[in-house]
Amino acid sequence: MSKKIFLVDVNRCNGCHNCQIACKDEHCGTSWLPYAAEQPDTGQFWCKVEQTVHGSVPKVNMTYMPLIGAQTEGLREYAPEVLMEREDGLVVIDPEKAKGREDIAEKFEGVYWNAELNIPQGCTGCAHLLDDGWTVPRCVDACAVGGLRFGDEADFADELAKAEKLDPKSNVYYLNLPKRWVAGQAIDPMADEVIIGAKVTMQEEGNEAAEVLTTTTDEFGDFWFRQVEGKKYHLWFDAEGYVEREIADVDATEADANIGRVGLYKMVPLG
Ligand code: SF4
Ligand code: SF4
Repeated sequence: MSKKIFLVDVNRCNGCHNCQIACKDEHCGTSWLPYAAEQPDTGQFWCKVEQTVHGSVPKVNMTYMPLIGAQTEGLREYAPEVLMEREDGLVVIDPEKAKGREDIAEKFEGVYWNAELNIPQGCTGCAHLLDDGWTVPRCVDACAVGGLRFGDEADFADELAKAEKLDPKSNVYYLNLPKRWVAGQAIDPMADEVIIGAKVTMQEEGNEAAEVLTTTTDEFGDFWFRQVEGKKYHLWFDAEGYVEREIADVDATEADANIGRVGLYKMVPLG
């Protein structure tokens, strides 16, 4: 049997939180023993939608993605004795075998300590549903836009070849993880107006062999280079009738770079 995996597409996830709520609905107030004891009403998020703000005003965007922490081979390596034996590769902490193992909750992100029941708890892959004939877990079933999918690793081979992981041992894969962006606005300070259709060229600073990226400013004079690597960049601005301008050392190493307004000045006719 092929191993079961989760696949998140960050470009499709709209942050609706349906997956997070569905997990709560499935596991709070209900025990699915022997697979899972009841999840506490508060303090645990076996599926947690993380929201990240990128950039600074007025160039801001948000990304959302579900985190499912307990589905990691790291847990199987660290404490195989507390897991249920399954052929589908799901990592399921056995509530009976894991009694007293607070160390597991301390070691793994997304595994929580239930002090009342004296057990560590996390995503079970909704193994109780799969064994009852469901093809996907509750959280995946609740996602209407294909942001969170689930299935046999072999069936996702093409997409997994392009996917990344937040934890190298995780069985949760991500498509389109956010990278950096570089943005700004071209303006004509003398005319006090934006410049539409200016060509903006960008290349990694000091690396002439690097790919040259180009775009043009939109009707607001804005430009964006999205999904670029976290590096320093050199930018060139070129608009008809204006003097070319360069900006060096635009730093997108640690965060997205909004370089703000870039003033271009009209060429003065000779004579
Ligand atoms: S993965 Fe799907 S259900 Fe979860 S927040 Fe994103 S869009 Fe909503
Ligand atoms: S698979 Fe089930 S237990 Fe795991 S996060 Fe989704 S709903 Fe929760």
